Amino acid sequence: MKPAPFGYVRPRTPEEAVAALAGAAAAGREARVLAGGQSLIPLLNRRLVRPDLLVDLGRAAGLRGVRADARGVRIGALTPHAALERSTDPVLHRDLPVLPEAAGLIGQLPVRVRGTFGGSLAHADPCAEWCLLAVLLDAELTVLGPAGTRVVPAAAFLCGRHRTALRPGEILTAVRLPYAEPAAALVEYGVQPGRLPEAAAAAALTLGADGRVAAVRLAVAGPGEVPARAPHAEALLLGARPAPDAFAAAAALAVEEAATRPPRADCAPAALRYGMGERLGRARAAAVCGAPAGSPAAGAPADARRPAAHAADLAAPDPSAAPDPSAAADLAALAGALVRRALARSAERARVLAPVRRRAAEAVAA
Ligand SMILES: Cc1cc2nc3c(=O)[nH]c(=O)nc-3n(C[C@H](O)[C@H](O)[C@H](O)COP(=O)(O)OP(=O)(O)OC[C@H]3O[C@@H](n4cnc5c(N)ncnc54)[C@H](O)[C@@H]3O)c2cc1C
Repeated sequence: MKPAPFGYVRPRTPEEAVAALAGAAAAGREARVLAGGQSLIPLLNRRLVRPDLLVDLGRAAGLRGVRADARGVRIGALTPHAALERSTDPVLHRDLPVLPEAAGLIGQLPVRVRGTFGGSLAHADPCAEWCLLAVLLDAELTVLGPAGTRVVPAAAFLCGRHRTALRPGEILTAVRLPYAEPAAALVEYGVQPGRLPEAAAAAALTLGADGRVAAVRLAVAGPGEVPARAPHAEALLLGARPAPDAFAAAAALAVEEAATRPPRADCAPAALRYGMGERLGRARAAAVCGAPAGSPAAGAPADARRPAAHAADLAAPDPSAAPDPSAAADLAALAGALVRRALARSAERARVLAPVRRRAAEAVAA
């Protein structure tokens, strides 16, 4: 299938892009931003979205690049995944090595070369690597719109599956990731060519001089609508010895926290964001994705649940479909195992890094 006809503009600045979006809205036309096209173009081809106008950010100045400074790392929204994967910036590798590591986990090389950091966050797939790390590391997202610039914390930006806090006419311009414990680790499960993970977890531990957990960040993706921090599980780990029983207890709590988090009501619903409302019936989405209408994923093996990475993701949530308790239990068990592994991996890295950090602190003090 080919896309429905659409207009196309390629603004030279982010401001021009916002003006193009505003102009389209004023004329009653649906406009959509195009970045790397790795999620949007399959949706256009399947006519799951039918914008009147595409606003291509590809040539807009100032939206690319990775810059590390004293406060953290700033990543332009149009920065391709591959730029992070291949970055040789010593500060990035010293203070946030999880970023180049995570970039290498995204799709295949052509996807990483074309797909962008900001596009991944704006697309808001619950298991996308950048969404999970943005939540783990308390990223700050800079958004430009008709009313000017605003900064939105990652946890507020990601509202639900393919739902963000972007308002009509706004674009994401950059993301700031503050430095966290460099021992951060990300693990995921279910990655197959052309598909996003089924679940993922990320952890960042700091160990004190006594070997106990002095600081911890924990985020889980899969059981909930969005990747989420697990504050109660984090509190449980503080002061604990980094051992398997403590990790198991924290993992169980983290998964429960992620699964029971209520969906946010303050963002545009997915159907609205994707302009599918009256144009695309669920039956048609299900037909495209190979799932029976009304019960898109129930009981299907993992493969059938994700026949085409993003088309399936858009068709998947159906509030009227009866939940499948065994699938939910499987996903919870999987996510729990991933949390335990992420904690163990982060603890191992923290142990290796502890003497290095101690020596660095002593050198600064001397
Ligand atoms: C085969 C395949 C495998 C993949 N595997 C993975 C994976 O393992 N992990 C993963 O995370 N992703 C994966 N992806 C998705 C890929 O990473 C995309 O790059 C990403 O989801 C979207 O980025 P993009 O630049 O391509 O955005 P686009 O496809 O251009 O846009 C996606 C959406 O975001 C909006 N948008 C884009 N940029 C902006 C912006 N700056 N401001 C406002 N709105 C914006 C668009 O309007 C659109 O709605 C895969 C994709 C494919 C095709």
